[in-house]
Amino acid sequence: MSAVIEMRAIKREYCMDSNKKKTASVIVRALRGVDFFANEGEFVSVMGPSGSGKSTLMNILGCLDKPTSGTYFLDGEETSKSDSNTFAYIRNRKIGFIFQSFNLLSRTTALENVELPLFYRREKFNKERAKEVLDEVGLSQRMDHYPSQLSGGQQQRVAIARAMVNDPAFLLADEPTGNLDSEMTLEIMALFQQLNDKGKTVIMVTHEPELAEYTKRIITLRDGLLVSDEQVKQRRL
Ligand code: ADP
Repeated sequence: MSAVIEMRAIKREYCMDSNKKKTASVIVRALRGVDFFANEGEFVSVMGPSGSGKSTLMNILGCLDKPTSGTYFLDGEETSKSDSNTFAYIRNRKIGFIFQSFNLLSRTTALENVELPLFYRREKFNKERAKEVLDEVGLSQRMDHYPSQLSGGQQQRVAIARAMVNDPAFLLADEPTGNLDSEMTLEIMALFQQLNDKGKTVIMVTHEPELAEYTKRIITLRDGLLVSDEQVKQRRL
């Protein structure tokens, strides 16, 4: 099994100037040396109380931010040393982002939303590929609908199709069901399970232990450290 994510001794410190005077600045140690490895096909939830470093870890995993020190290999490629163009390229090609608020463009159809990452890739629009992933998330009947014509769960499905369209190395979901009712939440978790069953690696940040039960492995952060990492018996939907 090949490693998708290899993070070693990741630290992230934020330097805050305490005030305008020349007093010592305050250093916030958001991550204090995290090792995290994930293989292809894993389904991992990232848990931890507020302020434990989940967002900081997400940002580094998603190549939106670089660590202060430590190394991060994504799909065998060292990301920490890449320049900003390469960094953006890795982000677009290797990572499928899914957000709590869906982040769809309201004036474009489901199909056009899904095509967008192909456009950023400077490739021709590829309707066939976009249709294929919309079909995979069960929305082939809704391709021409605008986001406002879709339920929250359907909008999140479109966002998941958009995340899948470039066939990324992993899906990175940040509280993906935070805006959904319990029925739609289960629908979306079932979809993640289906995609993961087909081999897609999924990393999901959540603060809800019941949702983590639908994944296969739970890592927990506390005060910037990874304090537990356990394989769990996955609850199936
Ligand atoms: P979580 O997502 O688990 O709530 P975060 O990663 O947002 O945790 O934050 C971890 C720590 O880093 C917290 O103490 C937070 O206040 C601090 N922090 C996060 N982002 C910044 C920033 N941009 N500047 C300074 N401190 C930050």
